[in-house]
Amino acid sequence: MSTYLVTGGAGFIGSHLCEALLKDGHTVVNADNFSDTYDYRFKVRNVLETLGMSPAFDYREKDEDLSRLRSLVRSERYRLEIADIRDGSAVEALFRTHKPDAVVHLAAMPGVRASIADPLLFEDVNVRGTLQLLERMRAHGVRKWVCASSSSVYGNNRKIPFAEADPVEQPISLYAATKRSCELMAYTYSHLFGIDGMVLRFFTVYGERQRPDLAIRKFAERIERGEPIPFYGDGSTSRDYTYVADIVRGIRSAIRYVERHEDVCEIVNLGGNRTVSLARMVETLEKEWGAQAKLDRQPMQPGDVERTCADLTKAKKLLGYEPSTGFEEGIRKFAAWLKAELAWQRTEK
Ligand code: NAD
Repeated sequence: MSTYLVTGGAGFIGSHLCEALLKDGHTVVNADNFSDTYDYRFKVRNVLETLGMSPAFDYREKDEDLSRLRSLVRSERYRLEIADIRDGSAVEALFRTHKPDAVVHLAAMPGVRASIADPLLFEDVNVRGTLQLLERMRAHGVRKWVCASSSSVYGNNRKIPFAEADPVEQPISLYAATKRSCELMAYTYSHLFGIDGMVLRFFTVYGERQRPDLAIRKFAERIERGEPIPFYGDGSTSRDYTYVADIVRGIRSAIRYVERHEDVCEIVNLGGNRTVSLARMVETLEKEWGAQAKLDRQPMQPGDVERTCADLTKAKKLLGYEPSTGFEEGIRKFAAWLKAELAWQRTEK
């Protein structure tokens, strides 16, 4: 069994990954700063759910809450560290204290539109933070890692589906540019210091515990409340949506791959295998909620790509990756979770 340092393990994807690694019998160190991208209380819930604990928590003030949470969840095989990956001494302490065998780096400032509003913050966390991590890995002889990138690096490429060897030199958002930078740094650290890595380009992930700023969740909550949803463009933009359990399976296979191989640095797409238009995504949500969405039609937003579609040939070849959850099925699971979540939130108020 191994010890994994998971950065961003309190987030949407990270909490599912930590849960899966714990189930496999590994030890997990979750390093997360509970950034203010969205309400930290969602992340507290994620951590509690990771460990199968009750979501009830006596919220008072953020710092105090996090310190109580840290003590509450402490166990032999799970450690929560409230740490910012930009803070060199905090990252150093993570490696010195926990001596991880490998790193799964998911912490980031996510979101295309937010990156256009605050590019310096995105550069700071996604580029400098990743570099801090790589530097500490180098110093402590940790030679295996998996890192999250994004389908947004493909920009508005015309060739469909997007394959890893396609040109990615024209990112159309700062977020995409920072993710591409992570891919390049992964290569540099593999070449110079023998750090074996796999960088995974996730294609729009959805499912239980989805980030509240992501379209599917935002739209679903508004349909439930009878509020209008922002509907960008004519509805023909499309996304390759990936159910979170498929992504987690892909990440676990990527970990195994880097553990079993030497001198590797690969970039691999993890997608859902089918492209769904914005209009169809809304229809699917309407069906689940038995209600018609009110559309607040708006122009396409700068930085948004027109479509994403993953070529999964490489993922299948290297990782045996095959997403198994279709969009309707995934949305059914997501809806069941969100309805229960919203009902719970109402009783808490
Ligand atoms: P998330 O925001 O739920 O999780 C990211 C976590 O990182 C959060 O818990 C946050 O608190 C933490 N974090 C942010 N800044 C940090 C810092 N400076 N130090 C320590 N922790 C910090 O997002 P997610 O959707 O779970 O995304 C996980 C990863 O996958 C990210 O790298 C994201 O860019 C990437 N990704 C996500 C999607 C998607 O559709 N969700 C698609 C492509 C790529």
